[in-house]
Amino acid sequence: MADEKVLRLILGDQLNPLHSWFRTPRRHVVYTLMEVRSETDYVAHHVQKVAGFFAAMRRFGETLARKGHRVVYFRLDDAANEQDLEANLRNVIRNEKITRFEYLLPDEYRLDVQLKDTVARLPVSSAVQDTEHFLTTRDEIQTLFAGKKRYLMENFYRYMRRKYGILMADGRPQGGKWNFDQSNRNRYDGAVPLRPAKTFHNDVGDIVAMIDRCGLKTIGEIWPQNFIWPISREQALEQLEDFVHKRLPHFGTYQDAMTIESWSLFHARLSFALNTKMIHPMEVIRAAIDIATRGAIGIEQLEGFVRQILGWREYMRGIYWAHMPDYERLNYFDHQIDLPAFYWTGRTGMRCLQAAITQSLEQAYAHHIQRLMVTGNFALLAGVHPDQVDAWYLGIYIDAIQWVEIVNTRGMSQFADGGIVATKPYISSANYIKKMSDYCETCHYNPGKRTGERACPFNSLYWDFLHRHRERLAKNPRVGMMYRTWDRMADDTRRDLLVQAAAYRAVLDTL
Ligand code: FAD
Ligand code: SF4
Repeated sequence: MADEKVLRLILGDQLNPLHSWFRTPRRHVVYTLMEVRSETDYVAHHVQKVAGFFAAMRRFGETLARKGHRVVYFRLDDAANEQDLEANLRNVIRNEKITRFEYLLPDEYRLDVQLKDTVARLPVSSAVQDTEHFLTTRDEIQTLFAGKKRYLMENFYRYMRRKYGILMADGRPQGGKWNFDQSNRNRYDGAVPLRPAKTFHNDVGDIVAMIDRCGLKTIGEIWPQNFIWPISREQALEQLEDFVHKRLPHFGTYQDAMTIESWSLFHARLSFALNTKMIHPMEVIRAAIDIATRGAIGIEQLEGFVRQILGWREYMRGIYWAHMPDYERLNYFDHQIDLPAFYWTGRTGMRCLQAAITQSLEQAYAHHIQRLMVTGNFALLAGVHPDQVDAWYLGIYIDAIQWVEIVNTRGMSQFADGGIVATKPYISSANYIKKMSDYCETCHYNPGKRTGERACPFNSLYWDFLHRHRERLAKNPRVGMMYRTWDRMADDTRRDLLVQAAAYRAVLDTL
């Protein structure tokens, strides 16, 4: 249409410069990005998360404008900003004489519903397009597992390997196996020197000042002139390059290791760049394969890493769309207690929790095993309400967006979905943490003690958890063995463990 004028909305996690929308600037197209209170206030976010999103959005808007696109950007403190998506859209539609509205599929259920409702009310026609980011469609996993009770990640992952021909040779898995977990997952033994991850020195001082001025409630710390996370595609690519050369060669080996010497060990720290879509998952996979092709890394490391992106990331998204909105209300164990206060401060004598929480407050980051086997494990053993666990994870991590956060938290970590994601709850006593980390060596508590003074709380809480949930778990073949161990214990031992757990549960905040 000759006088058509199009408004296109770009959400804060849709900063994909490779999207077909941006190929050629067009005079009749206006792009809009918005910093709005409705997005900052639904949970208390880490200050680095808010600053990171706003900085990346601003950079993205500036880049588009430099390339000749027309951009209307709403800063949080702009007088014209009505702090609400629909109200701002209506104003742009009126001011710019827009005849058609377009948006990209949101990844959050909440926004998906909101935008569907909004377009129904707008005075112009509308259309929605794909974000061109993911390697599966929203409902692909649901179709794949139609009629099945369980969606096994391993089956999905093999499907993805075949679908994209990744790490395949003549229709068979490269290296003769689909999964090299057995060769991976060591404790960090110092055999390989730790190599500091790529950080940036972005100045987000003006954004932090604005956050303060506007009275946003945030958590965590920030060094505004030294913001370490990537805020542009160029920086994201630098981070990827640095990772594949320096840390990918040891990624698989130390994937599950934890140490007080490093807050990210050999992990990629690419989740923020990926989740904001500054880089594409296939670019990350290709970069890793490229390094391996040059002989720099073995199949164990490569496969361990590819599985995270091609497997886990897409799988979690599939589960999200297959089970929302019911998923956010699941509470299989009917857990009700409050999140202990030290999750907001890091002030606890439990060294593992102190380390994981403190670094989360300082860096807006913890790696997978810290999230799963330290903070998640403790919340599950203690019986914290999954809503509170979700709110914490959604707020504190720079990469936390509901589609990926909730399935990991409520599903994988809290087993609140009763086993859609995990075949058994991820719980452990001190044994696992002692085996995989150096935390216990400097802890106030004794990992070898189950009861008595300074007994590690994980030990009694572990048995107490199994005891409380026997009805729900005893028939699970992967947990059954633990009940046989419990049943073989002397009555006194069992009683002492439950008394100890009750004593700890009564004073969780002060542990
Ligand atoms: P690496 O360990 O280097 O892995 C590389 C990439 O693989 C990650 O960047 C990520 O994109 C992908 N990946 C790895 N594991 C997973 C997984 N389980 N689910 C989805 N993608 C995965 N990840 C988020 O992106 N956002 C979240 O809000 C989030 N919340 C989590 C909450 C809990 C309780 C748990 C147990 C895990 C959560 N994860 C989340 C998954 C995982 O911990 C992070 O993706 C990872 O720690 C990010 O750091 P990295 O980039 O260094 O990852
Ligand atoms: Fe954590 Fe227990 Fe080890 Fe302390 S002793 S670091 S609380 S597992």
